[in-house]
Amino acid sequence: MPAQDVTAYLTQLLESVRGLDRGAPHDLPVHADADTDLLAVAVVDVDGQVWSAGDAEHLFPIQSMSKPAVYGLAIEHVGLDEVLRHVDVEPSGDAFNRISLDPESNLPDNPMINAGALVAHSLVHGPDAGDRFERIQELHSRMAGRELAMDQDCYEQEMERADRNLALAHLVKALSVLPDDPHDVGDGYSRQCSLEVSTVELARIGATLAAGGVVPGTGERVLAREATQQVLSVMLTCGMYDSAGDWVSQVGIPAKSGISGGIFGAVPGRCGIATYSPRLDAHGTSVRGELAFRRLSLDLGLHVLRPRRPQG
Ligand code: GLU
Repeated sequence: MPAQDVTAYLTQLLESVRGLDRGAPHDLPVHADADTDLLAVAVVDVDGQVWSAGDAEHLFPIQSMSKPAVYGLAIEHVGLDEVLRHVDVEPSGDAFNRISLDPESNLPDNPMINAGALVAHSLVHGPDAGDRFERIQELHSRMAGRELAMDQDCYEQEMERADRNLALAHLVKALSVLPDDPHDVGDGYSRQCSLEVSTVELARIGATLAAGGVVPGTGERVLAREATQQVLSVMLTCGMYDSAGDWVSQVGIPAKSGISGGIFGAVPGRCGIATYSPRLDAHGTSVRGELAFRRLSLDLGLHVLRPRRPQG
């Protein structure tokens, strides 16, 4: 499709979902106060071409959409085998903050739910908690193409309500292995979730994963191909929490949602995609964003499991 046609298509896509007013923003004040009319979509291909429509430069906290890159960073730092000794890769069908560890192994089911994300955060190497956060911030900044900053209000509000995540970190420490102090891990995880990104930047992060760990446009390698493949695999099977099965069958793009209202996906070898709209459904997924992804996937034939006839 010529570039201007893609932009026109994305603009029309947003108009086709704008009328949906189901759902509500997350009740964390920084999200509850968001303008629910904000709506954006962006696509970045693996060569770095960018298309967007709507409020694609508006900044919002990355929240759980930070989990994939942090998992990748943990794999880079300690190796996949070591990471798998601490966090499994089984879809749990649980809500993101479910107090759950596997009853036999005591491991978190996967790195996309909070229990596993806390462990992945703790596996990132650094002499102390501050250094670990800096490495996470640096990786996201390189992928996004801009020095990302933390939304201080979001961080403070997250910490005021961190009891559940802190309890999860303590539970992991008590029943299996958490390589660091649970409070430091909970604090660092809240900082990680508070990094501010735009929809275009999220699509760039997706495009970096789609390109096997190489930042589109700059050609800088930030994650190894093997680590990226592992990240994409858990995004496909576990990225959408308790609606992961529905997402895989209907959309078929490895993706991750966040309670701020963003969703980003990566179509291997092709592009990163992101949407933003603050109203969420019962699974914590953006209502308009999900429909936009469904339509995009169908219209552009992006389902990664789409059967194809052998050529020739
Ligand atoms: N900071 C949120 C939490 O851990 C992130 C949840 C999400 O975006 O899904 O509770």
